[in-house]
Amino acid sequence: MMKKALSLAFASLMVMSLAACSSSGGTASTPAESTPAASTPAAPAESAPAASTPSGEAAGGVQINAPDDVSIGVCIYKFDDTFMTGVRNNMLLAAEALGIPAPEIVDSQNKQATQNDQVDTYITKGVTALAVNPVDLTAAGPIIDKAMTEGLPIVFLNRQPSEEDMNKYDKAWYVGARAEESGTMSGEIILDYFKAHPEADKNGDGKIQYVMLQGEPGHQDATLRSQYCIEAVTNDGTFGVEELAADTAMWDKVKATDLMKTFIASHGTDKIEAVFANNDDMALGAIEALKAEGYNTGDPEKFIPVVGVDATAPALESMSKGELLGTVLNDGENQGKASINIAAVAADGQEVTSETIGYEVTDGKYVWIPYVKVTVDNYQDFM
Ligand code: BGC
Ligand code: CA
Repeated sequence: MMKKALSLAFASLMVMSLAACSSSGGTASTPAESTPAASTPAAPAESAPAASTPSGEAAGGVQINAPDDVSIGVCIYKFDDTFMTGVRNNMLLAAEALGIPAPEIVDSQNKQATQNDQVDTYITKGVTALAVNPVDLTAAGPIIDKAMTEGLPIVFLNRQPSEEDMNKYDKAWYVGARAEESGTMSGEIILDYFKAHPEADKNGDGKIQYVMLQGEPGHQDATLRSQYCIEAVTNDGTFGVEELAADTAMWDKVKATDLMKTFIASHGTDKIEAVFANNDDMALGAIEALKAEGYNTGDPEKFIPVVGVDATAPALESMSKGELLGTVLNDGENQGKASINIAAVAADGQEVTSETIGYEVTDGKYVWIPYVKVTVDNYQDFM
């Protein structure tokens, strides 16, 4: 009971801090920068831990006692990913805020074999903690085994290992967001649009004829977002749904433009009533294809609602021009910070708790960062 109440209070605090802050807090000036969320760390669940020394004190009550001894090795599944670039930049900022040396961050280039070698190299070098965004989430098991042999703390992020793998080792943690939540929110954005614009049901059959651009097969965010966005519509019951086409564009903008072009070629812009994309890059790719047909250029008369997930800077920009209907904040800033806080606190020999890391820890292993719905009403708060 107490725990639930606390966690609720905590979640709403986080949402409030998200809503209240508008600066991106990132360093990159490239369009790859994403997740313009809160610039303050999430509120600590409780008061700051009893500090033994004042060194390395950081905002949010996180305290690293021997900052110079912390050495974190990070693997990112690939650098060429808009969302993960934002997470990466925020990991560096988080380390700076803690007063620990900058973590080494390597590009696994979308190859699991490369990532496995990188983990070995980190171990040989003598890092004191690992943070891994797996290429293939089923590869987490063997990586956990390696960390366990060395007694090294390991934090996974963005791609969630199986419970079985996670439970093998008491120094394994996962930082992520509940994919279902983002699916539901993106479905609600489309649903609200149809309720407000009955003419969006172009053939008047009471069903939403949609196409879907999906992320990488096997990624929990692709599977669950695809499922829950549709369930949000069907559970509401106001509209039915009809899937015209759905396929993967691998989280990628260029692939999404090509895929959307094939969808348009086979179904036509007059039949497609909505576009669901599992992330913003693909939503923006789909919009490129629509623009080529004279749609979604800012004229509300020629508009097909497209929804994404992430709230990247280019997506918010697109919303401001009336091209993209909406998105869902995937809070890479807090995902990056939480990952670094856990790795640093664990490397520092402290227990990982809500109090020591400044984020609520569930089941001793999981940190869930909430998603936030981003619509025309609030997108400016995230820019
Ligand atoms: C993001 C995508 C990203 C993927 C990488 C997802 O959570 O929404 O934009 O490409 O993670 O694993
Ligand atoms: Ca219809």
